[in-house]
Amino acid sequence: MTVLVQRYLDGILAEHAGVDHGALASYIPELAEVDPTGFGLSLSSSDGYVYESGDAGVQFTMQSISKPFTYALALDQLGQADVDARIGVEPSGEGFNKISVDQVTNVPKNPMINAGAIVACSLIPGKTLEHRFDLVREFFSACAGRDLDFDETVYLSERATGSRNRGIAYLLDSFGALGADPDDALDLYIRQCSLKVTSTDLARMAATLARGGHNPLTGRQVTDAAVVRRTLSVMVTCGMYDAAGEWVSAVGLPAKSGVAGGIVAVLPGQLGIGVYSPRIDAKGNSVRGMLVCRSLSQQLGLHFLTVSSEAHAAIRGVYAPRPGVRVYEVHGDLLFAGAEQVVRTATRECGDIDTAILDVSRLHTISEPARGLLAGLPEELRALDKQGLLVDPDGSVAPDPSAGMVFATVEDALTATEIWVGD
Ligand code: GLN
Repeated sequence: MTVLVQRYLDGILAEHAGVDHGALASYIPELAEVDPTGFGLSLSSSDGYVYESGDAGVQFTMQSISKPFTYALALDQLGQADVDARIGVEPSGEGFNKISVDQVTNVPKNPMINAGAIVACSLIPGKTLEHRFDLVREFFSACAGRDLDFDETVYLSERATGSRNRGIAYLLDSFGALGADPDDALDLYIRQCSLKVTSTDLARMAATLARGGHNPLTGRQVTDAAVVRRTLSVMVTCGMYDAAGEWVSAVGLPAKSGVAGGIVAVLPGQLGIGVYSPRIDAKGNSVRGMLVCRSLSQQLGLHFLTVSSEAHAAIRGVYAPRPGVRVYEVHGDLLFAGAEQVVRTATRECGDIDTAILDVSRLHTISEPARGLLAGLPEELRALDKQGLLVDPDGSVAPDPSAGMVFATVEDALTATEIWVGD
């Protein structure tokens, strides 16, 4: 544990502890019975270490925080094309319980509003409703890293009073928008909303998304990176309903709220956040939860559009082991922009040398487009009458070493150039 981080979290909670506006969600009678003062915050690092502050152990129902996870499960099970045919990805600009469907196709605008979430539930495969719920619960539990409990009282409370959602389900059915019986789709929806989590569970679920579907606690790959990317995308544009624009501007974290007072927020590649405070505003978002996320983002610099690392950081060092030869050491996680800069630098500077050696032995990861660019460097140099060699002991850039231009060490590459010079 880092004492400083713990102090940050405690300080942020204390900063907003006195805020008491907003009200408990009362349209689901059971939700009006909870302690309104509950206040918890949890933060999971990308390697699974969790910091907790306040009521981080208090359980509450997920409500709409279930939506991105069921959407991810639908994508995982059916593939993107089938899901896209049934659920849009456009912000609706309306409240979560509005019947926002595309005028022409009758497809719900996005999976974060109730209409889209009910369609997502109708797509979850399984012989019976029980099987489908088991699949949902297992998926959520795998993201959290523990078996999540079900709150039967809240479930029955919402089922008994959920005329609006029943209306939405039947309307969707009349449009032919559902993949299953409307009662089953609705029941699964209310069940998933009644799964119980703590703010720590939410932080862990967020960390699993932050790691591209890899749960850092259990080491299990729950789903794949493409599913997560799509899920985070709709969380950015639609996760906070009609407050989405303000949220992205001020907080800048893909997130999802629920009317029981939870918020889950993700900083891709870095961390996961869970907050709980049950008083919500008119849009259905936790009042203190939003304030906490805003403070966290500002004080810890978490906005996902903060421009932090420049592409030239890809080049770790440049040196001339002997006249006419220059070595470029590349390191870290290389994406397109970083690779473009490496290749441009090496070709621009090659006027005064015969040979450029690209040493990629310290690369951590490389994307496919970046790999293609680096692998093409020898050819680019050849066109300039220069020689390009690659030091790539792990085959991360050139898995199939051809033309004898790939070496295990810089020394090997230098020896080869000596031989050629000798020729
Ligand atoms: N179960 C709730 C509903 O459908 C979830 C809404 C929410 O959390 N925004 O009304």
